[in-house]
Amino acid sequence: MIVDSVLTNAKAHLNKETVDCNLAIENGKIFKIGKETHMPKADETINLKNLLVLPGLIDIHVHLRDEGKAYKEDFYTGTAAAAAGGITTVLDMPNNAPVTMSAETLKNRMQTAKRKTLVNVGFYSEFPNNLNEVKDIVTQGAIAFKLFMACQIGGLNIDDDHALQEAFRKVGELDVPVAVHAEDKATLTDAEEKLKKTRRHDAGAFLKAHSERVELKAVERLLKLSAQINMRLHFCHITTKEGLDAVVEAKKSGRAVTCEVTPNHLLLSNKDFERYGSLLAMMPPLRSSSHIEALWKGIADSWVDVIGSDHAPHALEEKSAGSIWDVKVGVPGLETTLPLMLTMVRKNRLSLAHLVQLLSEKPAEIFNLTDRGRLEQGKKADLVAIDFNRKFTVDASKFHSKAKYSPYDGWEVQGRPVKTFVNGLLIMDEQEILAKAGSGGIIRRDRA
Ligand SMILES: [Zn+2]
Repeated sequence: MIVDSVLTNAKAHLNKETVDCNLAIENGKIFKIGKETHMPKADETINLKNLLVLPGLIDIHVHLRDEGKAYKEDFYTGTAAAAAGGITTVLDMPNNAPVTMSAETLKNRMQTAKRKTLVNVGFYSEFPNNLNEVKDIVTQGAIAFKLFMACQIGGLNIDDDHALQEAFRKVGELDVPVAVHAEDKATLTDAEEKLKKTRRHDAGAFLKAHSERVELKAVERLLKLSAQINMRLHFCHITTKEGLDAVVEAKKSGRAVTCEVTPNHLLLSNKDFERYGSLLAMMPPLRSSSHIEALWKGIADSWVDVIGSDHAPHALEEKSAGSIWDVKVGVPGLETTLPLMLTMVRKNRLSLAHLVQLLSEKPAEIFNLTDRGRLEQGKKADLVAIDFNRKFTVDASKFHSKAKYSPYDGWEVQGRPVKTFVNGLLIMDEQEILAKAGSGGIIRRDRA
């Protein structure tokens, strides 16, 4: 037989070790991994010249915007940024205009994405007001639900414990995970109002409002509310030692709880925020060095499951304002996550095998994306080929994202994604996008 393509001279990361091999691709899937002499004939041969090949990254925390927020990012620019960053699957957050929280809004979003996307995109939904609609949203193909606890975004009243439990029961029955942004609305709003009354509009005031306690309160509340419910709870971007400890305790008691950290909270601190100001404003905010060390320890001890970018692009004007309370929170991250984390591997903060687990294997497991996340025969041919020796300087002006700024602009990093393959197709080569808009795929939850 003649397969679609064979990638030769790969140093592929298989089963926790790096192996010299070739990969045959047929019909968008990995057909065979083996030695030169045993490979099938192919329509096309691509010589990878000893590049390191990893399973394409699965970024479970991405705000692709588009629709009413297309001036910030759209499905094409966002997924071009993903491709450039070695990310082959993204899960899109629901705080859009309109908010994704019905079968209808989800369907429209999928249709818009289908025309533009370059990588594979799956979708979160917020909870609807009427929980009877949860099933329709899942049938439409939502991969997971997102619950934003810092302020009211979805239809479900986040102040109502019973409503939250009812929602958890519904998704638990359907075995759909819930990802939560854990900052407690009441504590946060209260602190914010007090600071505004004393005319505090500085970065320090933002940190004070988004205190460590705000995170812990939400984590504890959610763990308590879900304690007797058979469901899967995933904590987005944990940033504090206490928050992580609470999650670890739940894990130790055998609960189906997982958590994520972002590169921002591992590599930047509250001092950076105070120094550089509003560009680094994000929720939850950057923390002090003791929390950063606790997160790294959480990684070392394997309590942290996932690294997600929390790619949250805004127009540059929205990142500065007279008052910190008016600044849009979040920074782009799709194009920096992999180079930054590979640099940390170079610095011996974690192993390459562990990084692959955090960026590909675990995200696939937690979100039921069983056809990807590993280099194995039969899995999707979603791959990234990396020059692990190449050093370069992060240049945000060259980003594919519409958000052409970064806290890491000017940082020296080592390890560059050189080629990205999605569904067997080479879509990015040396930062150049080769594929057409719409060549990526829409992932729907497995209905089986
Ligand atoms: Zn986010």
